[in-house]
Amino acid sequence: MTIAIVGAGLGGLALARVLHVNGMDCVVYERETSRDARGQGGMLDIHSGQRALREARLIDRFHTIARGEGQDMRLLEPDGTLLLQEDTPDDAPLLRPEVDRADLRALLLDSLPEGVVRWGHAFTSAEEGRLHFADGTSAPYDLLVGADGAQSRVRPLLTDARPAHIGHNVVEIGIPDIDRTYPDLAAMVGRGTYWVLGDGISLAAQRNGDGRVRIGLGLYNTPEDWFATSRIPLDDPAAARARLIELLPGWDARFHALIAACDDMVVPRAITTLPVGLNWPSAPDVTLIGDAAHLMPPVGEGANMALLDGAQLALALAAHPGDVPAAVKAYEREMFERAGAAARMSARMHDLLTSPGAARKVLAFFQPG
Ligand SMILES: Cc1cc2nc3c(=O)[nH]c(=O)nc-3n(C[C@H](O)[C@H](O)[C@H](O)COP(=O)(O)OP(=O)(O)OC[C@H]3O[C@@H](n4cnc5c(N)ncnc54)[C@H](O)[C@@H]3O)c2cc1C
Repeated sequence: MTIAIVGAGLGGLALARVLHVNGMDCVVYERETSRDARGQGGMLDIHSGQRALREARLIDRFHTIARGEGQDMRLLEPDGTLLLQEDTPDDAPLLRPEVDRADLRALLLDSLPEGVVRWGHAFTSAEEGRLHFADGTSAPYDLLVGADGAQSRVRPLLTDARPAHIGHNVVEIGIPDIDRTYPDLAAMVGRGTYWVLGDGISLAAQRNGDGRVRIGLGLYNTPEDWFATSRIPLDDPAAARARLIELLPGWDARFHALIAACDDMVVPRAITTLPVGLNWPSAPDVTLIGDAAHLMPPVGEGANMALLDGAQLALALAAHPGDVPAAVKAYEREMFERAGAAARMSARMHDLLTSPGAARKVLAFFQPG
């Protein structure tokens, strides 16, 4: 049986690894030309996804790359009032450690036999048991798994659902090597996540494993074409930083200093999601995992769900030898329920972050009563 996985992200690689430890072969087709072809993003908060890493027999190695201190959190209001500071003791359990997405992806890649991942294969279509790629080549499959992320090309084989904008745009900026370049700002941000929540706008700074602090400025209740109309000159980083500071009138001067200290990387991100509770009639030879199946607001569930999807599908295939349709049905039943619950929770958290008085509401969420 040929299992073809499209996408070497966290979901596709977790699936390949758990299949491997259960004695099953697969091929992963990835459009990027090599593992280092592009930057692999920032930090991920891994909690329920640790179950998948146990099934993948990688939990011990995960603990060596996980950053427990990344669980630290500071929550502030725009006038600089510190509402909450949580510092993680050295001996605290690794319940929600942060991990560099690149390190986690490398851990999964290194755990697979040579040749399982076929780089430079951009999937375009599938029919009658054959996958087709952008370079004109094709390959056979008995089971096709779409692990190709938010803009999945496999998804239309199962559903017409498309990601839709949720009125949230993010400008991503950052400060490299902050301990050396801006030690005072490094001390202010701390070792984990630093959140400033205003009305309709948020600043989230997070320390990455390589010493960079990534900063996301979130603009809520903004339209999908906001970047076209916002007068943020993305091609002129210094002017873009000045304009971003203008968007924070009345905010404490330290937050302005954080933006002024950023380097010239300015990345716009429009936030989209799939409908909460998305499902589809099961097909015998195609399924989806990860963001392709259930793209959610970015509040810390997506990577965990992708890892779990990969592990659960592999375990279902191992539990139904010779009966792929039954395995797919069993996987989807569990995934629809689990991912649906995570999507509802993520949507509620997103609503909280975007509502008036968000900082106090988030404080009450973390410190109920
Ligand atoms: C480069 C990158 C950086 C990211 N950075 C962050 C971050 O900093 N913080 C955060 O919370 N989340 C980040 N994410 C998203 C997060 O990793 C995912 O939401 C989550 O892990 C879900 O994983 P996934 O496997 O479903 O999809 P992804 O991790 O998105 O992986 C999908 C994979 O499929 C490949 N692919 C897409 N289309 C095709 C095609 N047609 N043919 C072949 N391959 C294809 C992509 O190149 C990618 O490798 C990032 C994703 C990517 C791809």
